[in-house]
Amino acid sequence: MKTIKDIDIKNKKVIIRCDFNVPIKDGKIIDDTRIISSLQTIKYCLDQNTKIILLSHLGRVKEEADLAKNDLAPVAVRLSELLNCEVKFIPKTRGQELETAIENMNFKDIILIQNTRYEDLDGKKESSNDEELGKYWASLGDVFINDAFGTAHRAHASNVGIASNLPSAVGFLIEKELTALSSLNDPEHPFIVILGGAKVSDKIGVIKNLVNKADKIIIGGGMAFTFLKAKGYETGTSLIDEENIEFCKKVLKNYSNKIILPVDVAVTTEFTEKEEYKVKDINNIEKNEMGLDIGPKTITYFAEQIKNAKIVVWNGPLGVYEFNKYKVGTDKLLEYIVNNNIKTILGGGDIVAAAVNYKDKIYHASTGGGATLEYLEGKTLPGIAVIK
Ligand code: AMP
Repeated sequence: MKTIKDIDIKNKKVIIRCDFNVPIKDGKIIDDTRIISSLQTIKYCLDQNTKIILLSHLGRVKEEADLAKNDLAPVAVRLSELLNCEVKFIPKTRGQELETAIENMNFKDIILIQNTRYEDLDGKKESSNDEELGKYWASLGDVFINDAFGTAHRAHASNVGIASNLPSAVGFLIEKELTALSSLNDPEHPFIVILGGAKVSDKIGVIKNLVNKADKIIIGGGMAFTFLKAKGYETGTSLIDEENIEFCKKVLKNYSNKIILPVDVAVTTEFTEKEEYKVKDINNIEKNEMGLDIGPKTITYFAEQIKNAKIVVWNGPLGVYEFNKYKVGTDKLLEYIVNNNIKTILGGGDIVAAAVNYKDKIYHASTGGGATLEYLEGKTLPGIAVIK
């Protein structure tokens, strides 16, 4: 893997594809983790006396109405504060204003251009990796650094398109993400996988790819109920992925000793936070009840399973994390991991957000949910493959 240190960038115009896809409400950035994660690469480029052109996407742009709410301007302000220097924002993705601003750059100047997905309004040019757009952006610089792990699983004009037209390398963030994830290629054992979230269908690829490598796969969240139903339990009105019951049956049959399921759950009758809930063993769920979190016996049981783990990878919450009442299972297991110093890789928005207060205590919290998942599925990440 060619990293930023393997490529000569000194005194050059460097285009860096960052992941500034941060939550913004009323023009205010709510969580700047991704901006902070990009600083090491930007600072290194400053030290190398380069002219820096930053690109990123923000949200999705499908229609005119999406433009204003996905304006990248607030990121330039925050970045200026964090770097303690001016970051000039160009509210365009191409054209005279952008080209003149680049022509007038001095070394160590930084420009951030408008959300790359503004180009999606015109025939999805960014997201479909329009050849002409990739070439155009590449023409603005001398070297390309991809540091956006969050979009590495997509072939877009702002990563694959530019990299196909310029000498390229990955930045420090992608290098860090890949170093952490590659420890799972030949993992130390016990290697335990924890999967949660809504649907089995989203995790089939991960289960197939890791079931032979992992010593245990712990399953919680909505997807646990499809497995419980496959085992013959009454699951009431819990979330069920009917199409994948057969898949779950097969996995349970072939890997019965590896799949770890909840033994008790928090159940209620409505998908809201208002109703009272009861904790029930999994053989006592009634027809009108839905499980929205794992129960206390399960928390202890899951903790027992990971106690001696050499490495854990966790994707997806173990309950309905958006409701305070049903985030207990996820939070308690996370607390156990932190308190017991269990080497853990977290991937996926919900679970990384759950660990926000443990930033330095988790071995690795990935900045890319989808990219991590595809890596765990054993897939090639096009944004990185193009650089290899
Ligand atoms: P994912 O995007 O697949 O990681 O799934 C995350 C979503 O799963 C969150 O929005 C959770 O609310 C949802 N989820 C977790 N546990 C359950 C559950 N027991 N029932 C319904 N949804 C759940």
